[in-house]
Amino acid sequence: MGTVHIDGSFGEGGGQVLRTGLTLAAITGRGLHIDNIRANRPKPGLGKQHLACVEAACKICNAGCSGDKIGSTKLDFTPGGVAAGNYNFVIGSAGSASLVIQTVLPVLFFADKPSTVTVTGGTHNPWAPPFDFLKESYLPGIAGMGFKADCKLLRFGFYPAGGGEIVFKVQPKRTDEGNPPDLCEPMAGPKISAKIYTSRLPVQIAQKQHKLLLDTGLDFEAIENINVTDSVSAGNCVVVRITDKKRTIVFTGFGSRGKPSEKVINEVVTQARDFLNSGAAIDSHLADQLLIYMAMQRAGKFTTNRLSKHLTTNMEVIKKFLPVSFVVEKEHDYYRVLCTGL
Ligand code: AMP
Repeated sequence: MGTVHIDGSFGEGGGQVLRTGLTLAAITGRGLHIDNIRANRPKPGLGKQHLACVEAACKICNAGCSGDKIGSTKLDFTPGGVAAGNYNFVIGSAGSASLVIQTVLPVLFFADKPSTVTVTGGTHNPWAPPFDFLKESYLPGIAGMGFKADCKLLRFGFYPAGGGEIVFKVQPKRTDEGNPPDLCEPMAGPKISAKIYTSRLPVQIAQKQHKLLLDTGLDFEAIENINVTDSVSAGNCVVVRITDKKRTIVFTGFGSRGKPSEKVINEVVTQARDFLNSGAAIDSHLADQLLIYMAMQRAGKFTTNRLSKHLTTNMEVIKKFLPVSFVVEKEHDYYRVLCTGL
């Protein structure tokens, strides 16, 4: 099968087109040529974050690569075989460790032995999956499909300083394990809880955010204020978890200098409320990230409350590599997404 050509300006036009392309090229063994990388971003081309994902993808499948430079808008990636190993990836400041994991994890499930991946970088960055999301929502979400991994946060890293550390242990996927996802039922008797992380900030910030959460009218079972002591920089992140017997959905609001706590809380609570009111089974972030695993199963369905550009763009990139089709149907206040093997 020949090289897959992708126009990086397509759809969402950001880093995800690149990451999904790298992941699927590594899994299928097909070459990837991508141009117009991140054309829809204010600073197009490969940033540190994206280069870290390219380098990590190269390592885990002994790939050849050209165009792997900061600012490059073109990349050629020629994967070799997937190799299990004990990998250590270090991203400079501002990069998200989670996005490196998002790139390499699906590939390492196809190695012949277990792997360990340690990534140093941001663990709680805006515009990327926070560690809590990966641990509580993403890994359990893919485990049902037979993709088994564990993870641990060794040190927090807040944006933009980073410097955190996360470690993932990945088991090879067994062909006789796992079912296509069927995530269409709304949450049944959802329980809501929250964690307020602050690092190197006055204790009053967490106290105020705690009170603001209580005042929202959401029925919190528990709210924990967690003073993070091992981060190299200041940081603030509010995580709202919605759990039932079958799954956990995680929403996040990020604090930053000059941003009022009211805004942080409003951001995270609005997402949680919209999700709960919609009757969807999963949120839009989990939806775009589960899609690749569902496509690898060649079947499955879920309902989600928002049809994000990340999700629709991922569908198009996936279809270039795998023989699947997607159907999206609007129903009530959510969308039903179906994947079928061709
Ligand atoms: P990109 O914008 O192309 O770099 O892609 C960002 C990725 O991070 C997408 O897969 C998003 O779904 C994911 N993401 C962004 N924010 C969050 C969040 N708060 N929780 C979980 N995933 C997120």
